[in-house]
Amino acid sequence: MLYITKSWSIVTALDARTGKELWTFDPKVPGGTGRYACCDVVNRGVAIWKDGVFVGTLDGRLIKLDPKTGAVKWSIDTVENHAHTYTITGAPRAFDGLVVIGNGGAEYDSRGYVSAFDADTGKLVWRFHVVPGDPSKPQENAALEAALKTWDTTGKYKFWDIGGGGAPWNSFAYDPQLDLVYFGTGNGNPWNRELRSPKGGDNLYLSSVVALHAKTGEYAWHYQTTPGDTWDFDSTADVVLADLKIDGQMRHVLMHAPKNGFFYVIDRETGKLISAQKFATVTWADHVDLATGRPVEAPGARYVDKMAVVFPAATGAHNWQPMTFDPQTGLVYIPAMDSAGIYAGQKDFAYHHGSWNLGVDFAAVSQAVLDAIKAGKVPPPSVGYIKAWDPVTQKEAWQVAMGGAWNSGLLSTAGGLVFGGDAYGMFSAYDAKAGKKLWSIDLKTGILAPAMTYELDGEQYIALLAGWGGAGGLSAFKDPNTALSKYQTDQGRLFVFKLGGRQQVAALAPEGVPPSEPPPQTADAATIAKGFTLYHRNCLVCHGFFAQSEGEVPDLRLMPKEIFAQFDSVVLDGALADNGMASFKDVLSKDDTAAIKAYILDQSHAAWDAAHPKK
Ligand code: CA
Repeated sequence: MLYITKSWSIVTALDARTGKELWTFDPKVPGGTGRYACCDVVNRGVAIWKDGVFVGTLDGRLIKLDPKTGAVKWSIDTVENHAHTYTITGAPRAFDGLVVIGNGGAEYDSRGYVSAFDADTGKLVWRFHVVPGDPSKPQENAALEAALKTWDTTGKYKFWDIGGGGAPWNSFAYDPQLDLVYFGTGNGNPWNRELRSPKGGDNLYLSSVVALHAKTGEYAWHYQTTPGDTWDFDSTADVVLADLKIDGQMRHVLMHAPKNGFFYVIDRETGKLISAQKFATVTWADHVDLATGRPVEAPGARYVDKMAVVFPAATGAHNWQPMTFDPQTGLVYIPAMDSAGIYAGQKDFAYHHGSWNLGVDFAAVSQAVLDAIKAGKVPPPSVGYIKAWDPVTQKEAWQVAMGGAWNSGLLSTAGGLVFGGDAYGMFSAYDAKAGKKLWSIDLKTGILAPAMTYELDGEQYIALLAGWGGAGGLSAFKDPNTALSKYQTDQGRLFVFKLGGRQQVAALAPEGVPPSEPPPQTADAATIAKGFTLYHRNCLVCHGFFAQSEGEVPDLRLMPKEIFAQFDSVVLDGALADNGMASFKDVLSKDDTAAIKAYILDQSHAAWDAAHPKK
């Protein structure tokens, strides 16, 4: 049986020989939860342990399902403290009778933590918070007492009210010999350290790899990849365990290539850094000092008084899409990106529970992009590629360009192949040694998840859950050549390949409604300008910069006039909450929505006029 997860944390079991659906479990996540998931209503898979299939749901539950029937064995609310905003998008990790899960929410107001539950009973065994809580109270453990010293507690905004961040939303690895569990932690909350910890400080354990004793959840060691993070450099990319011969000695290491663009090789017993080098375009730091283990930052990389442009962007040089290690070639294959990030501090920042609390002004950033385009300085397009990396010499072995920037995780096989897919829908196999493309197919669906492989009846299969979205698909990268742009459907598909397979791949039918002429604009320029600012502070993360979407969520410029007429019932009253469009009544007034509507209408007319030039 194959188990897959889909949007809204839905689990489906299929016959691995035929693809026949055996059961589907829908946890019925309330649609309004979509507003609290920074980067789409995604789910990155299940864990399996003995008699259970485990899934984390977007609204924070951990559920044990019967592998044969999909019946619920137990269901636990892992985020019972709803004073903060939490979601789960990551896969749990199950081992030794425990199920470990983290949470997301460091773009909102979360204080990230990892929990371990008993696989049989669902009882909480331990919990580890990534960042300190209220400094006037005792911290949960000695590791957090130590961490508190790396935070400034005197700022106007109290990080413990906003949450502090550190969301461990993706990677977990387990070493049974050392009985250590490893995970990466997310960015600070707010992103902007000037607001979070104005006098500086490393802000432990943000943007770090943390090792805990698996049975007790006690702190073992940490390595912080981005001290005092201010760029959304989550260290939540996968943690890969390997044994490498370094300077003639066999070392038990972990390898980590987080958003910040450095490839780290760390002794996984002690947490001591062995080596670190840039694997992509990186300008925020010059290098990592091996004596101190700290990055040497570039002057001006922090946006204290003025805007900063740095590589990589907040989407990272490598995000959650898994890299893969091939012990035969000794190479790590990384789905890498080069993309510039623009950062500007938000002068009039005000904390608001349940909203984005970044302290970064996306209205100012968007205006800077418009100004640059007007001045003829078009920003360079973001690019994606597979980078084959030698972790011992810390040097590139080969690289190949992919279509689009936001591409799939990778799979390497013992047959000497590396499988990867891209935003344009191409799925390819490469020679692991030299990177030569050996095989390729156009799936007409964008690809983000890594492929996996299994053997049944002596035959090898390659399974790929194709589908596209997430942070990059919603708003970060605009590209008319993505499969989503081309085919205008965001439906995912499971593809399974074997030698001799003969099926053809057809495009799915487009979704959505054909555009109609927008209603007349009645607002003045000042209202439209106000709408520009409010839109880019409240709406852009899902609906895209400049109200332009590739179609994963509705492109608001194509909004039918009936919806324009009922704008407030959608935005304030939550008329479409079941679809994921929650009410924003707690942050926006009627004047605000009138301005946002005016801005969208402005963009709508611009798009309509461009498509229908007057004779
Ligand atoms: Ca983040």
